[in-house]
Amino acid sequence: MHYNSPIVRPQTDANDLFIELTVGCTHNSCTFCNFYDGYPFRVADWKQIEEDLQEAAAVYPHTTKVWATGGNPFALSVDNLKRFADLTKEYLPEARIGTYARVNDLYHKSAEEIHILHEAGYDNIVLGIESADDDVLSHVKKGYTAEDILRECKKLEEAGMPYRIIYLGGLAGAGNGEESARRTAAVLNQLHPYYMFLTTVAILPGTKLHQEMLDGTFKEETELERLKEFRRLIQDMKNPIGVFSATSTDVLAFTAHFPEDKDKVLKKFDKAISTFSAEDEAYFNARRHAMRSV
Ligand code: SF4
Repeated sequence: MHYNSPIVRPQTDANDLFIELTVGCTHNSCTFCNFYDGYPFRVADWKQIEEDLQEAAAVYPHTTKVWATGGNPFALSVDNLKRFADLTKEYLPEARIGTYARVNDLYHKSAEEIHILHEAGYDNIVLGIESADDDVLSHVKKGYTAEDILRECKKLEEAGMPYRIIYLGGLAGAGNGEESARRTAAVLNQLHPYYMFLTTVAILPGTKLHQEMLDGTFKEETELERLKEFRRLIQDMKNPIGVFSATSTDVLAFTAHFPEDKDKVLKKFDKAISTFSAEDEAYFNARRHAMRSV
């Protein structure tokens, strides 16, 4: 198998078969991200892709889940994405394909084309929207707005493409977390992702956001503020959704499905918030600052 850059995937997809479709990220400008530093975006060689699928088929012919690796393979043209799906089907006929997409990757794909990609094998794509608060999106240079998120996710829904999202707490900075969560929930209440990963940012040395923190132009949210931010988001979200909040950055680990688990989860947050001590703050903050990648 060929892997020419770090493999980043959701925790829930860790057991998928990883096939390198792209290397790096087309954007590579989010101020908190160091995933693909030193790995300029490129499409993997088609011969390499076919060899990897052949090798995988020899060992795991009944693979049901392929994760197409890279920062945002959905940036590829519809023709190239279809080519990858067709090749995958040739060697692994039972497999469905998951991958990351940036909101911008959908701009030039119609609902009909996205539907064709879904029929060809793409399923469960993941959009790291991070937030739907325009102040946050602009500050961290995500390269799109809340309106873009709304429009493109509605297109996914029109196309019948199931999708998941990532919310990255802490990006709003000290004093702004709850308002940012409120704004994000207002957008998400107009959409129907079936799953959400709740994570919070670790500010990594070498990133622009880290430099802003050193300069004093960005003040990190406390761990307690992050808990309150998540609580606000959960409280305000209305549509049914599965939630995974058990990454190394999460103070309170849980998986749940809303609305049925909502009251139980909100109570967990209330308890954690009301009993959060200075020792807890110091412990979780030290743990976060020891991270070198998310
Ligand atoms: S967060 Fe995602 S879109 Fe932004 S630079 Fe990193 S990989 Fe690219």
